[in-house]
This record gives sequence, structure tokens and C-alpha cells, in this order.
Amino acid sequence: MTVLDFTDQFVSKPQHKNKVGFISLGCPKALVDSERILTQLRVEGYQIADNYGDADTVIVNTCGFITPAVEESLAAIGEALDATGKVIVTGCLGERPEKILERHPKVAAITGSEAVDDVMRHVRELLPMEQNPFTDLLPTAAPGARNGVSAPVREATSHGDVFAPSVKLTPRHFAYLKIAEGCNHTCSFCIIPKLRGKQVSRDAAAVLYEAYRLVAGGTKELVVISQDTSAYGVDIRYRESEFQEQPVRAHLTDLAAKLGEMGAWVRMHYVYPYPHVEKVVELMAAGKILPYLDVPLQHASPKILRAMRRPGAGKQLDTIRRWREICPELVIRSTFIVGFPGETESDFQELLTFLEDARLDRVGAFPYSDVEEADANALGNPVPEDIKQERLARFMEVAQRISAEKLAEKVGRVMPIIIDEFNDDEDDAAGTRLIGRTKGDAPGIDGQVYLYAGEFAGQIKIGDIVEARIEESDEYDLFGEVVARPAWLPNVPQMGHFGGH
Ligand code: SF4
Repeated sequence: MTVLDFTDQFVSKPQHKNKVGFISLGCPKALVDSERILTQLRVEGYQIADNYGDADTVIVNTCGFITPAVEESLAAIGEALDATGKVIVTGCLGERPEKILERHPKVAAITGSEAVDDVMRHVRELLPMEQNPFTDLLPTAAPGARNGVSAPVREATSHGDVFAPSVKLTPRHFAYLKIAEGCNHTCSFCIIPKLRGKQVSRDAAAVLYEAYRLVAGGTKELVVISQDTSAYGVDIRYRESEFQEQPVRAHLTDLAAKLGEMGAWVRMHYVYPYPHVEKVVELMAAGKILPYLDVPLQHASPKILRAMRRPGAGKQLDTIRRWREICPELVIRSTFIVGFPGETESDFQELLTFLEDARLDRVGAFPYSDVEEADANALGNPVPEDIKQERLARFMEVAQRISAEKLAEKVGRVMPIIIDEFNDDEDDAAGTRLIGRTKGDAPGIDGQVYLYAGEFAGQIKIGDIVEARIEESDEYDLFGEVVARPAWLPNVPQMGHFGGH
């Protein structure tokens, strides 16, 4: 074979169709599923189209949590079908194929959540890749791969595989770390267990290897997620696995301690107030993981909590006080539902009193709405819509005042801030204004810190952790100036050119 013959195989060959569009809807847990599918697409040589015009087929990762999310998912499927005619639906709504087919009978395939292999099977059927002995030898480098070499997608541990996505949909400096899927609870307003099934925890080693690789690649903040993070490992009886030749239990306390040793920020989401969480708060007090807990409490009236069938409900205020004794820096985020069926004015007052007493740092609230198939739909005594809205406004007024008071306490302090983005306008020199977050702010949902870079203008990069003096505050955000730019020194060797900052 001459060189020309060889080249001809590439030049004259008609282009096969291999561009896949991807729409990712829903929560951070769904985002992790999207990352896994995108990683596998890249590994198998598919290209990711960034608009419908370029896409040969589209995958829609759907959300089915509440009625507006279902509608958004159905609309996205319709739009993708109109544009390309070939759509694979996956994710939570995919667990209810009849709902999708009723509105969109022409979708090519439907899978449930966590179904990377099924999705890939359908992609291969719709867009078969031509086998070419020359090009197939060349790996496709995933975004973020260093020097053209992709990290292995699967890595053996003593208990099965770790599936560590190398395609990330978050910026490099933070990543969601999913430690379990599904849920063993039966909250009456929620259909997640019906959609995603019972809890299935990953081995601690699998989670830790994924975290290690992320930190080695420049990730500075690990956001731990699952449906019920405090219940991690229950389903596998806290099974031991081996991480760096050491046994480690699939238990939240052990996992948090090990993650904390890597030197990145470790943030805990969806933690219920079980007794063992106290040990995790001790790790926060010792500076091992971030002093931050996202604890979805939903209500404070025992009657309403019973009707909601909430896990960990009980002496919530005592638990929060105890946590704060152990770790005074602790920032608590929570979400609540107002206007749950049967909620009286006195139940609502109980919730407001709890809010005043607990002085939670970050609070979100939603008016109750029926979710198809949820058990709560059968409860009597619905709260009229206007009363729900009026209670929501009263609730948010109290929450906003407390948030403003707590943020005002931070004025004058110097604190570490992780930089998420630049905020320059045309009058500024590049890199003069920045937006970041304190240790008490989770990406995407909490407040932000608006900063002047001062003498560090032009030197700070996205993902740097700087020291800043807080000069002002409002209801949700802080304002200040950078005073130092310390080196970042994780306990994980850094890959390639990443280091220092
Ligand atoms: S803990 Fe309750 S609200 Fe959360 S996923 Fe499980 S059933 Fe749903």
C-alpha cells in the first residue's frame, strides 16, 4: 500500500452520520447521568452537535419530578423531534413511556434513568458507525483530556466498576459527585422512588477514585449528591472496598473523612437530620470538609411532617442547635413546601416560628402542587391557591430578613472565595471584576460574592480560590475586594500543567 492509497481511505470516504445533539434537563443527579452518556458517546467516536442543524439525532435527558418539569421535558422532546425527526428519550420521565408516547408517538426510543448502555444501544442502531481499521485505532480525546490521552472510563475496584465521566457539564473547578441513586423513603408528595427505584449506593472506593481523578484534573470543589446522602451505604450494609490499598466503608462519615483528605472543598447536599450526621459536622468543625449542609426539611409542624412522611423528622431545632454547637461556622440551606394539604394557619405559624428560631442561612420555598401519581394527591383539605401564595410571600419575607442579617455579620471579615466567572464591563480592564462564592454558597442555588480584583486584576483565573475582604452585603449576596491569592495545594498530585492556582 502506498501512502496515497492510505490517505485516500480518509479523503474519498463519504462522511458517515455521527453527530448527536444532547439536551440535559433536571437536577444535578440527572446532570451526572448526562455526563456519563456524553462520555460514552465520545469514547465510541460520536461527535456532539451544538445545534439542531448539525445533529443527526438528539438525546433528551428528561425530568419527571413535578408537573412543570414534565411539561418542560415534553416540550423539549417536541422541539427536538421537529428539528431532527430522530429522538432518544432518557431520564426520569422515560420511566413513564406512556406519557411520552401519548404526546410524541414518533420518538425513536425511550429508556429510564441511569441507562447509559440502553441509550448507547439505541444510538448505535440509529447512527451505526462505519468500522474503519485505520481510524478506529485512534481514540477520540474527550474534552478535558490532557495531551490527547483520555482517562480510562472504567476503572476496576475490589467491588465492580467505577464509572467516572470524563465529559463534564460543569466548569472544571467544581463537579457533582453522585454517591447513590434512588431512594428508600416514601414521602407522600414525591414520585422519585417510583421513577428511580430503591437506593443503590456506589462503593466508597468507586466514589473516591472518581473524586481523586477529578481533583487531579483541577477540580477544587466536590459537591456530593444523592437522594438521601445520610442514608449512603445502607443498602449495601456499609460494605468495605479498597481505596489506595486501604479498606474504606460505604458510610457517610468514612467517605466524608476520606474525601476531605484530598484537600478540595467538599460540600454535602440532601442530608437528613439523622444522629450520625453529627460526626460529619465534627469533620466540618475540624476543617476537613466545608461547613455547609443542604438539609431539605420541608416543614416544621409535626402534623404536616407526618402527612408528608418525611425521613428524619422530629426534633429538628434541637438537632440544628447541636450541630451549631459543634461547628459554629455551619451554614445550613433548606427547602420548604407551603400550602401542603391540611396545612392550617396554626401549622404555618409553627413553620414561621421554626424559621425564626433556627435562623437558617439559605432557604427556598415552593407552594405545594399535585404531582401525578404522588400519594399526597389523595389527601383532603387542599389549601386554596391564593392562601398558598400569601403564605409563600410571608415565609419569604422572614427568610429574606434572616438571610440579610446573617450576611451582614460577614461584613469586615476576610474569607476564601472560589471564583466562578468574570464580571467585567466595557469600562473595566480585563479581570477587574469577579463573581465567586464563599464556602457557605453552593453553585447555582445560593448567593454570590461580587469582587473587585484590586491589585490582582488580570492575574486571577476562573476556579482560583482567593482571599477577599467583605465590605457590603444585601439580602442574598456579598460584595468585597480580593486581598490575597494564595497557592492551592491539594493532597492529590496534579495532572499536566495544573498546579499552584
Ligand atoms: S427522601 Fe422523600 S423527597 Fe427525597 S427522593 Fe426520597 S421520597 Fe423523594
